[in-house]
Amino acid sequence: MSDCIFCKIANGEIPSQFVYSDDYVVAFKDVNPQAPVHVLVIPREHIASSAKVEDSSVWSRLMSSAAKIARELGLETDGYRMVINTGEHGGQTVPHLHLHLLAGRNLGWPPG
Ligand code: 5GP
Ligand code: ZN
Repeated sequence: MSDCIFCKIANGEIPSQFVYSDDYVVAFKDVNPQAPVHVLVIPREHIASSAKVEDSSVWSRLMSSAAKIARELGLETDGYRMVINTGEHGGQTVPHLHLHLLAGRNLGWPPG
């Protein structure tokens, strides 16, 4: 989608700090990190939210990429959190599916 900020990040139009990239998925550092490690993992394909996923391979690619990034960043010992905000009550602000990978501090529960 031409006016989507995450599509522009995925295709390099908007600069970001990439931590992972393959044919289906890109991952980059969140511009406003909520933890010492805060990475966003997104499909290259524009999908507006988790509610709009039709092909289950999107999930396997997104989740397995996030787990791989967590392993490569050495997060497995202390742990990490994966979050997908969906819609208004879910706190979603960017309408392109994204998974937050958060780590580096003790994350509270329940969320706000
Ligand atoms: P949401 O609230 O939709 O679950 O998460 C959107 C996330 O995208 C937020 O954590 C926000 O900081 C991040 N974000 C928004 N615009 C940009 C941007 O231009 N670059 C990067 N790297 N992150 C962004
Ligand atoms: Zn998009």
